[in-house]
Amino acid sequence: MEQKQTINFGPGPAKLPQSVRSHPHMSHRSSDFSKILSSTESLLRELLNIPDNYKVMFLQGGGSGQFSAVPLNLIGLKEDNCADYIVTGTWSERAAKEAAKYGKVNIVHPKLDKYTKIPDPSSWTLNPSDMSSNFLSRPVDVSKFGLIFAGAQKNVGCAGVTVVIVREDLLGHALNECPIVLDYKVQATNNSLYNTPPCFSIYIMGLVLEWIKNNGGTAAMEKLNKHKSSMIYDIINVSNGFYACPVDVACRSRMNVPFRVGKKEGDEALEKKFLDGALKRGMISLKGHRSVGGIRASLYNAVTLEDAQALATYMKEFLKEHQ
Ligand code: PLP
Repeated sequence: MEQKQTINFGPGPAKLPQSVRSHPHMSHRSSDFSKILSSTESLLRELLNIPDNYKVMFLQGGGSGQFSAVPLNLIGLKEDNCADYIVTGTWSERAAKEAAKYGKVNIVHPKLDKYTKIPDPSSWTLNPSDMSSNFLSRPVDVSKFGLIFAGAQKNVGCAGVTVVIVREDLLGHALNECPIVLDYKVQATNNSLYNTPPCFSIYIMGLVLEWIKNNGGTAAMEKLNKHKSSMIYDIINVSNGFYACPVDVACRSRMNVPFRVGKKEGDEALEKKFLDGALKRGMISLKGHRSVGGIRASLYNAVTLEDAQALATYMKEFLKEHQ
């Protein structure tokens, strides 16, 4: 029987590049694991040009685990135990809430609208930074950051491993109550092997990093992601309000394109029709986040230009039929 092709526009666990999907299993007791760990780290260092004075760790607990780990490790660096949080969406809102358990939190700017705007960033201190969504989707100057963390499940593999890249001088300041598995100094000193690491997810990450390298590295990913997202935004922009993106043009994401169908606040019946029609064409997971509604197309690295083109074509046809 012919298998129908499915295009996954979901926000994670991510679709994986075709070349990675043929590696179904690895024993986490494999004696080759230390080679996998060091080659994955080397690839990451190469792709992101990570300076030598930064440690790289592969940890468990996801982005949410880091919402706790970051303040537990860093808030003690400040005499007043006060940390600045730039809250631009629900994830950073959760991070700030978690940090407030361990110290004081200063919210840098007020919530603007429903997180659809961000005030002028020129005055911010970006330290640390949650890159779960855009990690390896474009080049980044690691030296500008004290700490970067990112769950792998969007752009660099499958769920289970969280990358933490931290400048060495920020190690060793954990609060007494910091759980040992979240202590960066302990994990960095033990090369992410203080306890059992998420071996399989690290293995898959290594394969995805190789795939990124073979496909032109972060610069090529950026070009691809710009192209894919502009295809979708362009249709939204010329649809005379039939498709409406609530996010300010200046802070629109290349990774997640949210939009409403029919009118600005969304026509729910039409949105359901849009999703049903997409499903018939093999396009899944386009339903927006439950807190926002509408449609959301996640366009992470493994979504191809052809996949984005298929969505763009469908959007044009739906527009013609229902405008
Ligand atoms: N940060 C961002 C930007 C995310 O998009 C997500 C999940 O979608 C998270 C954090 C939470 O990550 P996790 O589910 O790995 O805890």
